[in-house]
Amino acid sequence: MQMRCYCVTHHGQPLELVQREAPQPTGTEVLVRVKAAGLCHSDLHIWEGYNDLGGGKKLSLADRGIKLPLTMSHEICGEVVSAGPEAGDVKAGTMAVVHPWIGCGQCVACLRGEENICTKPQSLGVMRDGGFGDYVIVPHPRYLVDLGGLDPVKAAPLACAGVTTYSAIKKFGTRIHDEPVVIIGAGGLGMMAIEVLKALGAKGAIVVDVDAAKREAALKEGALAAIDARAPDAVEQVVKATGGGARAVLDLVGATPTVRLALDACTRGGHVVIVGLMGGDITLSLPIIPMRPLKIEGSYVGTLPELRELVALMREGKMQPSPVSSRPLGEINAALEALARGLVVGRQVLIP
Ligand SMILES: [Zn+2]
Ligand SMILES: [Zn+2]
Repeated sequence: MQMRCYCVTHHGQPLELVQREAPQPTGTEVLVRVKAAGLCHSDLHIWEGYNDLGGGKKLSLADRGIKLPLTMSHEICGEVVSAGPEAGDVKAGTMAVVHPWIGCGQCVACLRGEENICTKPQSLGVMRDGGFGDYVIVPHPRYLVDLGGLDPVKAAPLACAGVTTYSAIKKFGTRIHDEPVVIIGAGGLGMMAIEVLKALGAKGAIVVDVDAAKREAALKEGALAAIDARAPDAVEQVVKATGGGARAVLDLVGATPTVRLALDACTRGGHVVIVGLMGGDITLSLPIIPMRPLKIEGSYVGTLPELRELVALMREGKMQPSPVSSRPLGEINAALEALARGLVVGRQVLIP
């Protein structure tokens, strides 16, 4: 059985169409026919080959053990085709969203259920081949979350944009019910964050973005306010909109100016969760951390139980899908280009 996939063969060069034999599942593996595969901002970093650490320093993906050629996309929905002899009872034809944040299965993080922070990650679309192809191998059926009739195109972003924002928002605890959450960045993750806050019955979102079209889309999605990040009084506007300073800021950009803004907009006891990987660095006066006191926390994707909770929220109709635009997999290079130039509102989902 032949399959097509679009691979990163050289960093920064267009993805290459490769025809190859579809893999046969062995052991506990499951072969899934891809129905929808989301394009995430972190795919841009994989494609470029590094993360910007600021001060001219770069974290190369080769140093993280990422090898080429690689088929990207970690936001995969598909249909079970076949399974290895040790996979147990897996029904062909089952439609599922795939949890891509797979660990080694043996370390303490994995045993705690936090495979997403395993030190030997095996993530699909990052360390192993992902969804920009006709088929993908999933190492174990437990990573398949049944869609139960959900549209695969709308559900695919749950695997990264969804679980990432869900896991980050959960870190704020109960304060989301008392005060609005400030969301910096109204791209695919920002729109998803608004939906997650609604599904959890939170107070609401105040969105900050440099792009007018994205601010407009966020307001349409139900944001309480949208603030231009480049306005000279952006910090004052956030302080005013939150009624005296933010208690919860979700930075989905993670660049020098956005983290600065997040910290400056906090009131005493403010909590900043950084998710975005845009890059850069900041200088921080240490006494302000205990004196204000601030909580600065990182959040990296999410766990399999969190993805199950999120899919359940959508299956029960408590959460609406965030905006997606679908296009054929053959347009992947144009999709990548549009994302790199910041022209995308919502999520692009590719269909093989
Ligand atoms: Zn992602
Ligand atoms: Zn592990």
